[in-house]
Amino acid sequence: MKTKLAVLLVFLLVASGGFAQALKPLKGISILLDPGHGGADPGAVGPTGLKESVVNLRVARYLRELLQADGAEVEMTRDKDIFLSLGERVAMAAKLSPDLFVSIHHNASLRPIEANRSEIYYNAIDRGISQKIGNSMMYELAKWGFGEESIIVPAGFFVLRNNPAPSVLTEGAYISIPKIEQELKTGKSLTDQAQALRRAIRETFKEGVLRVKFIISEEPVKIDTPFFNLIFSANRAVDKVIARIMPERMSGFGFDRLPSVGNTYRLYNTEPLASGNYEIQLTFTGSDGSVSARTMLRLQVNLPFANSAVTPVAPFIPEGYKGRFPVRVSLRDDMNRLNGRSVPIALSFGESSVTTGETSETGESTFYLDLNGQEKDPLQVKLIVEGETISKCILRIQPTTKRYVLGKIIDPVGKGISGTKVQYGAGNRTNTGPEGFFYLEYPMIYGNMKLEVTPPLGYEKSDYWIRTRGEPVVLPTIKVKPVSERLLGKRIAIMAPLSFDNLIRRLVKPLMVAGAEIVRLNFPEHQNRPEYQSVLEANLAKDLDLLLSFKREISGAIEVRHYHRGGRGKLLADALKFSLASEQPPINVKALAGSDYEISHTGVTSVVISFPEQMPPDYPEKLVAHLAQVLKTGF
Ligand SMILES: [Zn+2]
Repeated sequence: MKTKLAVLLVFLLVASGGFAQALKPLKGISILLDPGHGGADPGAVGPTGLKESVVNLRVARYLRELLQADGAEVEMTRDKDIFLSLGERVAMAAKLSPDLFVSIHHNASLRPIEANRSEIYYNAIDRGISQKIGNSMMYELAKWGFGEESIIVPAGFFVLRNNPAPSVLTEGAYISIPKIEQELKTGKSLTDQAQALRRAIRETFKEGVLRVKFIISEEPVKIDTPFFNLIFSANRAVDKVIARIMPERMSGFGFDRLPSVGNTYRLYNTEPLASGNYEIQLTFTGSDGSVSARTMLRLQVNLPFANSAVTPVAPFIPEGYKGRFPVRVSLRDDMNRLNGRSVPIALSFGESSVTTGETSETGESTFYLDLNGQEKDPLQVKLIVEGETISKCILRIQPTTKRYVLGKIIDPVGKGISGTKVQYGAGNRTNTGPEGFFYLEYPMIYGNMKLEVTPPLGYEKSDYWIRTRGEPVVLPTIKVKPVSERLLGKRIAIMAPLSFDNLIRRLVKPLMVAGAEIVRLNFPEHQNRPEYQSVLEANLAKDLDLLLSFKREISGAIEVRHYHRGGRGKLLADALKFSLASEQPPINVKALAGSDYEISHTGVTSVVISFPEQMPPDYPEKLVAHLAQVLKTGF
């Protein structure tokens, strides 16, 4: 009786095609497990000394066993207690290109927290598998007893942001809670966690992986029209495509199925693209609910140069002028859009003179004509691309009744600064154009003349003396000094509740005068944990140098908190503490390691400044003044 039933059951499974699937539900799926920390880096440490790195590895090993039993191919970034950089971990993902990357961590908080919870971070730029598996993991972990309050957050941590594979990072539990630390020492808690993660992975891949292949002969795909048609085939029917183009453009996409060739489709864009190099990021969903990994495709658009131009930086050339004369070249298409890639060009002028070079990727560049002083009025300059003249300009050559300054304003590294005001005497004034060039006329006198130079924010005003000797054109290159080498061009993110607005305005002004760019992070106070939004924005923002976070807490002292392993955050905190101690009477602040969310969850140097409810009313202002000074002079 028993045998018969078993046979029948097997038959039913085979008949539905699900037999192998049921025994090995993850067959054909490759997974890279990444136990966080290790070696010299223990990660978080529990109250009695249990290392996060050890717990992470044990969970990963259990999980590997379970996934292998399900038929998955599993690799681990480390299977020993060794140190691996984040870069090495990501490099392994790039090499193996798995269907999934799971980084396993455990959390800690310096402040006592009541309830344990698990936190799942998924790759913020992948709303496909990464998001799907994140949701599934949060659900399963809660079901397996890892805290009711578990959360899922799109994140930009290094191992996620730089990961080509669908990726998640799990913080299974709080190792800093004494009771949880004890549980993590026993096998049960670890196997339960591994079971929960396995369930989530099974659930996500239960329809298998949708695999998509573009039929292209080269990458980047090169086109000479503003629209593309890309053919792709899939291992199952495709229902939905999410496409995004970088650099970000107004773009719409569509796709349709090619008749009578299986699962083959055409992807096209609906808004015209300008010339340039693009990356298209794609995620596909199958009609059976399966999801693809993120696919990237490089595209190069080469449109004809219809509205291109060559323009002199000065209105005319004084007769007999010998030397290099700058002209601007801008390459545009028939919709007047700048060309977004570098192109070799030639400029012909005079009898047989030619200047050659390559334009920059912005579509606009400066080139120099080497003039010998014999050029006649008018001088025709031709812009030539691939042997074809695409633009002409006339340069007038005028008899010299005046003298001219054809100068350039540059920063300490030699980059031209546009928008600088240059003034001579009472009436002669101009602004520098692109790449810092300016043109001023002055009467035919010999001697010294003083230029007053007023650069844009971030640079100091200065005077520049020119000694003239009767030459038709003087060509000074004037270097201006930044207000603060440390702050010029730096991007500083600020996160704070609205009640800090007045204070932050006081901070922002001196920083902007010193040439820093301020990014005010969104802090949605009506939400439960507004810092999640701020941190997400900080992680997605490009090239941040520093994150400053302001908050109000009940504690008795002003605290300046930094990352526990030191680094630049600690230097800043210590410098600020030292600076404030010089006030009369001294202002005492505590500089210490913090476990604030923004400190542990961003890739940028983050410093938290926390004010107590009660303190002398002039303290915040003084603190901000010292902070600006410390940032300017370096730390
Ligand atoms: Zn960790």
